[in-house]
Amino acid sequence: MERTAFDLVIVGGGAAGLRAAIAAAELDPDLTIALVSKVYPMRSHTVSAEGGTAAVLRDYDSFDLHAQDTIKGSDFLADQDAVEYFVAHCPQEIIRLEHWGCPWSRDEDGRVSQRAFGGMSVKRTVYAADKVGFHILHTLFQTSMKYEQIHRFDESFVTSLILDGGACTGVVAMNLRTGTMAAIQGKATILATGGCGRVYEFTTNGFIKTGDGMALAYRAGVPLKDMEMVQFHPTCLPGTGILITEAARGEGGVLVNKEGERYMQRYLPGKMELGPRDILSRAMIQEIKAGRAFEGPYGPYLGLDLRHLGEKRINERIPMVRELAEKYMGLDPVHELIPVRPGQHYIMGGVSTGLKGETALPGLYAVGETACVSINGANRLGSNSLSECLVFGAACGLAAAEFAKKRPSYPRGATAREALRKEEARVFDGLLGRERGKETVAGIRVEMQQLMERDVGIFREESALADACGMLAKLRDRFAAVGLADKDRVFNTELTAVLELDFMLDVAATIAHSARDRHESRGAHSRTDFPQRDDANFLKHTLAFRTDGAPRIDYLPVKITKWQPAERKY
Ligand SMILES: Cc1cc2nc3c(=O)[nH]c(=O)nc-3n(C[C@H](O)[C@H](O)[C@H](O)COP(=O)(O)OP(=O)(O)OC[C@H]3O[C@@H](n4cnc5c(N)ncnc54)[C@H](O)[C@@H]3O)c2cc1C
Repeated sequence: MERTAFDLVIVGGGAAGLRAAIAAAELDPDLTIALVSKVYPMRSHTVSAEGGTAAVLRDYDSFDLHAQDTIKGSDFLADQDAVEYFVAHCPQEIIRLEHWGCPWSRDEDGRVSQRAFGGMSVKRTVYAADKVGFHILHTLFQTSMKYEQIHRFDESFVTSLILDGGACTGVVAMNLRTGTMAAIQGKATILATGGCGRVYEFTTNGFIKTGDGMALAYRAGVPLKDMEMVQFHPTCLPGTGILITEAARGEGGVLVNKEGERYMQRYLPGKMELGPRDILSRAMIQEIKAGRAFEGPYGPYLGLDLRHLGEKRINERIPMVRELAEKYMGLDPVHELIPVRPGQHYIMGGVSTGLKGETALPGLYAVGETACVSINGANRLGSNSLSECLVFGAACGLAAAEFAKKRPSYPRGATAREALRKEEARVFDGLLGRERGKETVAGIRVEMQQLMERDVGIFREESALADACGMLAKLRDRFAAVGLADKDRVFNTELTAVLELDFMLDVAATIAHSARDRHESRGAHSRTDFPQRDDANFLKHTLAFRTDGAPRIDYLPVKITKWQPAERKY
């Protein structure tokens, strides 16, 4: 049995977790920090971000305008105090990353370039060609290495939180390389575990995005907020779900149907292809239903046309788009249309937090895509997420560090030892000990993903949602019979898949139940049986609480500061 104690435990080595670690380390060189990640930090999903990160940097822009765009984009479900904090702190994060070595793309006059993005009224998105996630993550990772007080636990999978006297006092994690478990105690713990896109069948998210932190917090009694707000991105490659960044449209790419028509003129003539993602994704489904889509081996799709941009601009501004189209579709966008269709991309909901990432459980914080602070409300604007990870990562890292510094002594070892013993019994004797029977992890996972896609997708209605809630409960029962063929403890990917499915079943249930109970259409939540937004009854956040049965749904008022809800027109 291994037990270690730190001031601060951070779960997640993506943009949010690394930014939090650096902020905490900068605050106090004596603070000890554990950074735990189930993959090597440079493999965190932040690495896949392509298009850019938003900040007000030019005279033509203002904090009020960025806030207004974000709140309107959110369909007025964002908390406006959080948005005001966010927009005011984005620029300093961009400059900080610049000083740490992030190679932002530049204009000819040497200034950091900014491009157009959906739902933003001016060019506000800072970028590094179309590999912004790689460069941000690399910059943060190498900066974090300057601080010897940050102890990394790479390829360590957190399976549960340690709870003591009504507070969170660390985590239990399985070292994937050795197949051993450890209790990693912390005076404060931050969850920065990213999103949960793998709950769906067709997604831009990699295999590691399984909602672990959301489920960990939920199981510890912390509510998940606005989980029905799931973002579908309009331009994903059919078959793989690989994202073609919104930057392609920001640079001038257009969407066409099989008649060669720029169909967005029918849905959003004021913004066309640079409208928000919820509206563009719905328009695509409507084009498909109207029979105006192309047909391909993976079903109907629309065309993304970049040909008029020319080879030079494509190579300079969006080289990865060309590379992805060539590698995964066998076509060159300099000469051909790129086939695209909508896919799950991001979740606006997550662990309910305050402005500094604090949750309802003392000692537990959450930040990044796993959290809901909430600046994205019912629909996130592209390029606000990375900035959110940076701004709130820093704020959360500082707040958690301050919290830890105020706690005089390390948490009690006896509780950690007991938590470790229980997890070893649950995971090694329980899950790993189960013989393979008729239920398999892949079987249940695929059923869950297909039903989420079908019943809790872009368009939703009561009977399908009710069905999904019932089916998810049955899948949860069947999960108890999942057995494993691989009995090894070292790098047992079947075992981690079981643990991830366990998390995903919890998360999926909160999405389906929250969606079923929101009887209106707002942002990404589009109910065919309740097509209008209903501010009188639903200008409020959904909270999903864990019970022994179905999630218990409650609500929380939205914080309005200056921007009164109005019809969302573009
Ligand atoms: C293809 C793609 C392109 C995108 N492009 C953009 C863009 O251009 N601009 C923008 O603003 N946003 C973009 N986004 C969204 C944005 O990239 C993410 O929301 C953001 O990077 C999330 O960062 P994070 O730090 O919260 O989580 P992640 O980067 O996903 O990191 C999560 C971390 O948690 C760890 N972890 C998870 N579970 C466990 C566990 N059980 N135990 C231990 N560790 C665990 C992982 O190992 C990882 O280190 C894009 C998203 C995708 C999918």
